Amino acid sequence: MKKAPVNEAGFISKMLIIWYDKHKRDLPWRKSTDPYIIWVSEIILQQTRVDQGKDYFERFTGRFPDISSLANASEDDVLKYWQGLGYYSRARNMHTAAKMIVEKYDGIFPADYKTILSLRGIGEYTAAAIASFVWNQPCPVVDGNVFRVLARLFAIDTPVDTTAGKKIFFDLAGSILDPQYAGVHNQAIMEFGALQCVPRNPECLICPLMNICIAYASGEVQNYPVKRHKTKTRNRYFHYFYIVYNGYTWLHRREGKDIWNGLYEFPLIETESPMDFSQLQQTAAFQELFRQAGRLTISTSNLPIKHVLSHQVLYARFYRVELNGQLDSLDNYLRVLQQDIDQYAIPRLIHIYLENLDRKLPD
Ligand code: SF4
Repeated sequence: MKKAPVNEAGFISKMLIIWYDKHKRDLPWRKSTDPYIIWVSEIILQQTRVDQGKDYFERFTGRFPDISSLANASEDDVLKYWQGLGYYSRARNMHTAAKMIVEKYDGIFPADYKTILSLRGIGEYTAAAIASFVWNQPCPVVDGNVFRVLARLFAIDTPVDTTAGKKIFFDLAGSILDPQYAGVHNQAIMEFGALQCVPRNPECLICPLMNICIAYASGEVQNYPVKRHKTKTRNRYFHYFYIVYNGYTWLHRREGKDIWNGLYEFPLIETESPMDFSQLQQTAAFQELFRQAGRLTISTSNLPIKHVLSHQVLYARFYRVELNGQLDSLDNYLRVLQQDIDQYAIPRLIHIYLENLDRKLPD
């Protein structure tokens, strides 16, 4: 088990807490010790930068200020308030967990680490953050920032994205945690990684841990942390049809294990490779969708929108299609007034398109 020397561990924790006191950012969730508020903030921050996450946090907690309001909401409403944050399974899992807390724990957030961990969508990191921030329980948190700080301080070259690496870093994080100040220590080391020991060009010369940092002493700061896996990304080609007729358009709710489960989108044709419109027209999916349409009035932007997700890059083209009459092929889609699109939870990609579109409604 990897441990920091006892005297060094106490020093690190003390220095981190002093540093935190001086440099911490004023963030809305830091004013709260409500586990629900900490939970929401941690889930938002899992894939979102703090400066972006703040507004979403205010909006989400404004609409769902406590566990029961979240538990009683519809999934559509929850997704609508999550819109723009991406990784929508996080919102669905929180919704499920809120219902579970109401049903099993009378609406009171459990205070025990293991029970917190059993809630849908809460992993070791989030459970440790909630248990330590709210109840000062001595559970080490290890997020990307903590990995980086520890990897550099102790020059650990075991890749952080391996089982062995995770164990080493978890043990090390536990060994420098002062149980008396678990909550503030955890917040301090995370903030230290986010602001001081940053991925590129950390300002080591003004770092309070410079004298004990092995990576700094050996001039190898940029070599830590070590990662093994390079995540493969997959390119996808989406062709969306913003179909309009008599002030209406058509949407479809995505289901299943693919991206954006539960979100609404325009009729979509996905192709294996990039296609221009003349190629797209030859596809069976296009002919099926517009077989009865006769002459179509179609407008499109020339360039596809590139939309980067964690393991996928989407290249999306949008076609605005004006119909002369109703199409049977749209029977399985939801017909909505154009001006009501905003009432549905839609992916950020479609939101970007609509923002840029002159959404003129018919007289
Ligand atoms: S000296 Fe540099 S690399 Fe080491 S902990 Fe401080 S900021 Fe990070």
